[in-house]
Amino acid sequence: MFVYADNAATTCVSKAAVDAMMPYLTNNYGNPSSLYSFGQDAKEALEEARKTIADIIGAQPREILFTSGGSEADNQAIVSMAKVGAIKGKKHLISTKFEHHAVLHTLNALEKQGFEVTLLDVHEDGVVRLDELEAAIREDTALVTIMFANNEIGTVQPVKEIGALCRSKGIPFHTDAVQVAGHMPIDVNEMNIDLLSMSGHKFHAPKGVGVLYAKRGMPLFNIIEGGAQERGKRAGTENIPGIVAMAAALKESVDNMEANAEKMIAMRDKLFAELSKIPHSKINGSLEHHVPGTVNMCFEGIEGESLLLLLDAKGVCASSGSACTSGSLDPSHVLLSIGLPHEVAHGSLRLSIGEYNNMDEIDHIIKVVPEVVSYLRSISPVWEDLENGKRPHLI
Ligand SMILES: *Cc1c(COP(=O)(O)O)cnc(C)c1O
Repeated sequence: MFVYADNAATTCVSKAAVDAMMPYLTNNYGNPSSLYSFGQDAKEALEEARKTIADIIGAQPREILFTSGGSEADNQAIVSMAKVGAIKGKKHLISTKFEHHAVLHTLNALEKQGFEVTLLDVHEDGVVRLDELEAAIREDTALVTIMFANNEIGTVQPVKEIGALCRSKGIPFHTDAVQVAGHMPIDVNEMNIDLLSMSGHKFHAPKGVGVLYAKRGMPLFNIIEGGAQERGKRAGTENIPGIVAMAAALKESVDNMEANAEKMIAMRDKLFAELSKIPHSKINGSLEHHVPGTVNMCFEGIEGESLLLLLDAKGVCASSGSACTSGSLDPSHVLLSIGLPHEVAHGSLRLSIGEYNNMDEIDHIIKVVPEVVSYLRSISPVWEDLENGKRPHLI
């Protein structure tokens, strides 16, 4: 059996997306900037896609900017607001400890250029606290950027309340909604969002295409200079097939959102219930504020990397927070941010379910994960120490 359970990393391209993009990969290859009607057909498709996406999140078409993906959208939103702030003498940026690296590394780069960054705690439940955000806000705060839902542990932030607080202080609010778009409702007005990032390949569009929503009046600086595409804010001939596919995929996901969520939650909850029966295991992140598809757990006494390799051998594609880099094992910054000790964070497993999964696949995962965990523990010196009391169990 082959089970793809890594939908937070990327998703399959839906048939609706492929069908929508096919004409623009074949016959309709015109450049939307060309004046003849062959080019204008592409332009029309581009503007229709823009309107479809704008409608879905409650935005105006002119507020939708197409990018190469979530990373570029995050970069442009943050760098723009930092530059605008600096002009007014505001050089303080607020975010959280468990953002995606597209946000954290952009903030790091700005820090080196003289900006000051406050990273809020996300506590054991993986949810930011409003009073702590309020306390962190200063006269010179130029931007608050807080992700809508975390990509590793799936916890959802109180975006509407964060947006309201930022608005009351006159501070722009950006949210990385890559894990939410297509999976949970988004309304940029109701949720007080000024800037928002999305990525097509997280909701069944192809890789390499995304959206930056920027509320009217939000000044944007270019990350990519060149032609006058995207109202002069993002140069480069538009990825028409990708953009058209993204609009089709988002529309299909949103049209089926409730049914998909119901199906995914049933599978997710079964995974949580069954895998929690493994002794010395732990669920990471609040279950109360959670995206439909993501399961993140730790199993004491094992290495996430070995777990993934053995699961791969049994046909299961999953992910782990830990990454083995140059001989030293670095646990995930997300798992450390929710207070897990290094040795526990190393034994993590992320399973992210999509609407294309089914219960037979979930049953396969439920069968193989305990087998693999038992096997790894049986050969682990750390587990031996834990079991004979040489070190204390942490979970
Ligand atoms: C995947 C992801 C990104 C990056 O999106 P790309 O389109 O791959 O650049 C950014 N933020 C989050 C939360 C993600 O899950």
